[in-house]
Amino acid sequence: MQILSSQSGVPILRVNAAQSQVAIPVRQAMIKTLYEHFEVLYEQILPQDPSIAAEHTLKQEQEVYDISNKTTYRNAVLTSIAALKRRPKPDSISHPSVGTNADIARRIEEKKALDSLKITTTHLEHHVLTLDEMRTWGYITEIPPGEGGSCPSDEGAVQKCERCGDQFQVKRKEEADECVYHWGRKFMNKANGERRRLWSCCSKSDDDPGGCTRGPHVFYESKPEDLHRRHAFSNTRSASTDEKDPALDIVALDCEMIYSTGGMRVARVSVVDSSGKEIYDEFVRMDEAVEVIDFNTRFSGITEEAYASAILDLESIRTSLDTFINSDTIIIGHALENDLKTLRMIHHRCVDTAIMFPHRAGAPYRISLRNLVKEHLGKVIQAGGGTTGHSSVEDSIATLDLVRWHILHGPKPKAKPKPSPTPPPPEAGDPVTTTPTPSASKPQTSLNLDFGW
Ligand SMILES: [Zn+2]
Ligand SMILES: [Zn+2]
Repeated sequence: MQILSSQSGVPILRVNAAQSQVAIPVRQAMIKTLYEHFEVLYEQILPQDPSIAAEHTLKQEQEVYDISNKTTYRNAVLTSIAALKRRPKPDSISHPSVGTNADIARRIEEKKALDSLKITTTHLEHHVLTLDEMRTWGYITEIPPGEGGSCPSDEGAVQKCERCGDQFQVKRKEEADECVYHWGRKFMNKANGERRRLWSCCSKSDDDPGGCTRGPHVFYESKPEDLHRRHAFSNTRSASTDEKDPALDIVALDCEMIYSTGGMRVARVSVVDSSGKEIYDEFVRMDEAVEVIDFNTRFSGITEEAYASAILDLESIRTSLDTFINSDTIIIGHALENDLKTLRMIHHRCVDTAIMFPHRAGAPYRISLRNLVKEHLGKVIQAGGGTTGHSSVEDSIATLDLVRWHILHGPKPKAKPKPSPTPPPPEAGDPVTTTPTPSASKPQTSLNLDFGW
């Protein structure tokens, strides 16, 4: 919209006087009042978007004009101003109180529809990943070869640091050697016609040596065999023929991970049911012989103090998850393969919002959960721009909300061949007959590549 404005910033109404039921000076006077209120309301977001108050003033006036007449116009504008004054001041463009009154009413209606939508397996069946899709996206679909759990910890061995790229000897937290690194991601910055790669954590150029953060060296493994060696993979339990099987049809799941002497390991598991109700949220104690190196609090949200309450180890956690997850349960997650890997869970009924909302560059690129939620739900999660931790409960609820949004507003699914029944689970240690595609086996070397963060 091209906006003409007076010196004070008040937008100028540009309509043909002969076609306006209400005299133009009257409308222009109301526009001035409206504009003054939008300016106050948008105080905090105007620096980011200086024309937004003028734009919304004109839209708001038009909205009121369209539903009123010569006699009711003035009162209708005043009513709309009263509504503006009741709104909380937005602190970002995506805040729910940004927009005209009709925009906001529409969003409230949309949210009601979204919240009241009950997700069923019928909605999801089209989105359940095929085995091929799972392999393309790096899911581990079969128990890897080798003896599971034969080497839980790599303490004393040499690994490549996930943070700085140097070789280091794996040591527990107290003894670990110091790593100087950047926790952020590199991005291309263009200033004064010069393109440079900068770090998002500290805005330093990537040519500058050193880092901005100190901590221990840590390592991350992604090869199925390596993960299996640390802690054995196993299938989710088979669906029981018993009518009373307590397993749920649908759950959403999210994990938080920390660095240990056995690589990056799960430290918190959260599960919500299809209505978004929390049904499980537990810290995971490291396996015997595995020591924590770094709680990775910035990304995991897990502090040493909170983690001290962890009682159950991964095996016990898996047993409790069996109560409400069986091989028929549809598990919803964002970049879910990371969660399943860290839980050492082989499961074939998966719905992944990172695939449901594809990145326009295609695989292996994905849009972060945070950005999807912001774009489609107008909500900010993981606030702090990666500087404060996540909550796996909040993230799994957000994932579920995205699925609801997709059911209501997303493209209608293409017919997919009916998924073949889940093959009988192979015995642990069976040779793997299928190899993951190269893209799937490619280790995700950078933290900013999606762990769903
Ligand atoms: Zn940095
Ligand atoms: Zn390092």
